[in-house]
Amino acid sequence: MDLAFSEEHEMIRKMVRDFAERELAPSVKEHDRNQTFDRTVLPKMAQLGLLGICIPVKYGGAGMDYISLGIVSDELERVDTAYRVIMSVHVGLNSLGLLQWATEEQKQRFLVPQAMGDKLATYALTEPNAGSDPLALQSTARRDGDRYILNGEKMWISLADVADHFIVFAWTDQEKKRARQASGMSAFILERGMPGLTTGTIHGKLGVRAGNTGSISMNEVPVPVANRLGEEGEGFKIAMSCLDNGRYTVGAGAAGLIQACLDASVRYARERHTFGVPIGEHQLVQQMIARMAQRLEIVRLLYAKVGWLKNQGIRNTRETSLLKWYACDAAFDSAADAVQIHGAYGYSDEYDVERYLRNAKGAVIYEGSREIHQIMQAQYALGLRQDRPLRCELPAYDADAWQAE
Ligand SMILES: Cc1cc2nc3c(=O)[nH]c(=O)nc-3n(C[C@H](O)[C@H](O)[C@H](O)COP(=O)(O)OP(=O)(O)OC[C@H]3O[C@@H](n4cnc5c(N)ncnc54)[C@H](O)[C@@H]3O)c2cc1C
Repeated sequence: MDLAFSEEHEMIRKMVRDFAERELAPSVKEHDRNQTFDRTVLPKMAQLGLLGICIPVKYGGAGMDYISLGIVSDELERVDTAYRVIMSVHVGLNSLGLLQWATEEQKQRFLVPQAMGDKLATYALTEPNAGSDPLALQSTARRDGDRYILNGEKMWISLADVADHFIVFAWTDQEKKRARQASGMSAFILERGMPGLTTGTIHGKLGVRAGNTGSISMNEVPVPVANRLGEEGEGFKIAMSCLDNGRYTVGAGAAGLIQACLDASVRYARERHTFGVPIGEHQLVQQMIARMAQRLEIVRLLYAKVGWLKNQGIRNTRETSLLKWYACDAAFDSAADAVQIHGAYGYSDEYDVERYLRNAKGAVIYEGSREIHQIMQAQYALGLRQDRPLRCELPAYDADAWQAE
């Protein structure tokens, strides 16, 4: 394993950094205050290939590797968590799920327009009474000839009110639902405009305020069998493998947030004086800055490793969970320290650090809370959990094949 980012990776980093500084930074505060994001930015992201970064060119993507996906997440979040979340959901949770599990016909219908940025996509697992415990889902899908009829409510879904495509999970086997047997769950691709499908927006979130988070209501929604993702009964496996990709982007994105905390803290520690010296000369302030630098290095190493595993086609559920857990805690701790270094000014929105703290908290909860990842890590360590091969694995990166038209 090569621990250095390649020249190509550094070029992608620079491209996304320039883009984020130019297109996102000027309005980040305004969008956070207004609880909206700028949809006109999405075609610009698409033009740079960011909405299909690690999707093969033949499916409309940019054909880059999985480490590039981590770098894009890192650089977007350095400026605005809300756009990293869009990437995480659209590319990580949805499009890579299609790359892994969809039929060729589904890839042409759904993945191609997504990777090109013509359609926006999301992933809907969580329900009002089922988050950490997905076997508690209530949504159902009943077979009716060449279609399924879906009923249920999804909650806390990123992009719910703006996405065009949704991967939705529901029980197809009612007996297995009662017995909490994962093999009774299936996955479906829903499209905006299907009868009985309505969405809403949740307002008043602590962080990621610019990002759209909402609900999805399914009332007798007819979904063609051709829109079932994977086989009947594979929904739970699909849900978990999509999370392996979404969590990677969340963990890598946390590096960007730590970088932003470090940059802001260093700047302020040089400017602000107490007791006749810049506060950066006080060792207790230095300690907080040193910890940010330490966490940043560790998170970048962890995501480079996970990206490398994905490139090789090696299963990475354990490593991805470890990255996501460590990185999100590290980002939250760094943001808390950044506010501390800014003193009272850090406690107001005059500076960015209060937003970093609010945004960092979300990632400690979504895509597997801190507690769920701790449980997973303990189970791996104790030999209570093992990953078995899947019918469809995430494809390894193949530069020639992925760049081919
Ligand atoms: C901004 C945002 C965006 C989101 N986007 C999406 C999305 O796009 N798609 C989607 O499907 N979901 C999304 N979610 C939902 C998210 O994944 C869930 O909130 C998360 O899985 C936690 O579920 P919950 O909120 O129901 O908490 P609960 O599961 O009710 O947990 C509550 C608390 O109990 C703890 N807990 C639960 N079980 C255990 C246990 N066994 N041991 C110890 N502690 C435990 C949890 O860690 C947590 O602290 C999003 C959430 C947020 C906040």
